[in-house]
Amino acid sequence: MRPAPALAQQLDIHIPLAPRLRYFMGRMPGLAEVVVDRKVLDAFKRRALKLYPREIFEQVVGRIAGKQARIFAFRDLEHTTSRGSVYIDSDMNPMTEGEDEPRFDILGTIHSHPQDTVEPSALDWQTMQKDGELVMGICAIRRTAKRRFVSFAFFDSSQAQLQLTISEADSAALAAGV
Ligand SMILES: [Zn+2]
Repeated sequence: MRPAPALAQQLDIHIPLAPRLRYFMGRMPGLAEVVVDRKVLDAFKRRALKLYPREIFEQVVGRIAGKQARIFAFRDLEHTTSRGSVYIDSDMNPMTEGEDEPRFDILGTIHSHPQDTVEPSALDWQTMQKDGELVMGICAIRRTAKRRFVSFAFFDSSQAQLQLTISEADSAALAAGV
């Protein structure tokens, strides 16, 4: 499914011939929760710390399920020229869950706030609205001489903060070979 050209233009999306990712175009759901795997979140944290004190900015890829935004990946944005432009690669190989036709949506973006809080800026809200993002993640990183402090917060388009739920493998189940 490709968005109509007019809409793509409006969203400033650069679409390849056969995109496997697309913007979520469904009815605006009432979101309450963001669910993300610990490994996915930790990997983002590592990338953010690596770039620190520069800002990191990535796409949020996942699926809406009821009131949940299930995040499958944070994707590097290559060749991005501005905060408002989102390029979609056609060779993306998303994680699948055994489905013939896995469907992943670009739910929004996540970026870091070096030496700052998770509070979105006025520009953040503007950009979120302009790009039609459903979910905006912010990762605040503060560093002292010996410690670093990392916080995550996710917001929906009504500017409400969403509960962040982190999923991880159950070590007891793994040990039992379940
Ligand atoms: Zn920001």
